[in-house]
Order: sequence, then C-alpha cells, then structure tokens
Amino acid sequence: MEDQYFETLMKALKNTEKSEDVPVSSLILDPQGNVASIGWNTRQANWEISNHAEINALNNLTTKIKSLNLDQYTLLTTLEPCQMCYGAIKQTKIKQIKYLVTSDKYGIHNHFSINDISPKLQKNSTPEQERQYQEILETFFKKLRHPENNN
Ligand SMILES: [Zn+2]
Repeated sequence: MEDQYFETLMKALKNTEKSEDVPVSSLILDPQGNVASIGWNTRQANWEISNHAEINALNNLTTKIKSLNLDQYTLLTTLEPCQMCYGAIKQTKIKQIKYLVTSDKYGIHNHFSINDISPKLQKNSTPEQERQYQEILETFFKKLRHPENNN
C-alpha cells in the first residue's frame, strides 16, 4: 500500500483509543486517488453493532456526496472486511477493496472463494506495514485480555 495511505490509516486508528474500540480504520479514495472519506471503528464509542470502520467510511462519503453509488471509488482498510462490511461495500458498487492484514476470525475469505466474489479483495501491504498493524492489533487484544498490565 502507498505510504501516504498507510500513514493516514495509522493516524485514524488513534481515534479508537479513548473508547477502547478494536483499532480498525478505513479510507475511501476517489478516482484521482484523493482521500474522500475516513472511518474508524466506533462500535463501543456509540454502542452500535454496525459502526465498523468500513461502514462508517461509506456513510461519511454517501452523506457528503448524496449518492449511494460509489462505483468510481476504492476502499482501503487495515483489516480484511467482515461479512457485514463486505455486504455494505457491495451495496455501494465499489469495485476494489485493499486491506493490510487478513482476519482469520471474521474475514470473508473464510466464507467465500476469493475468485467468486465481487468487488475484488486484494491484500495490499508490505511486510513492514503488515507487521506494524499486526503489532497494534496484538497489543490491543493483549491489553483487553490482561487489563492488569495496562499501567
Ligand atoms: Zn466489518
């Protein structure tokens, strides 16, 4: 993934810290490659099941441009989308999703053959980007499971 997008995704993760939401962030790029929308996980911040980073990024953009058709846009996200988000992304007609790290637990690749799905999913990270984000996730879940080590 291009460094500028990776850095923007990493910065957006900081918005999840206060609410202790799982650190996931998403960007939507317009056809020129400009960041048109940013979203992050706010499930716990808002106590809303559907407030995943991808859906928040989609809603920010559809509200802004007053259109539900995002077929000219690309979605970048830190973690492979879950089935709910993949369904929402599909509703917007986005054709390409790029993610940094595979989600073995919730990622859609476990539920569908990657060749049968559209929009296309593409893992798009350098080994260093993957390591960096994986470490953020591991640290988050380590703290969650062992809160006594937070201090
Ligand atoms: Zn999701």
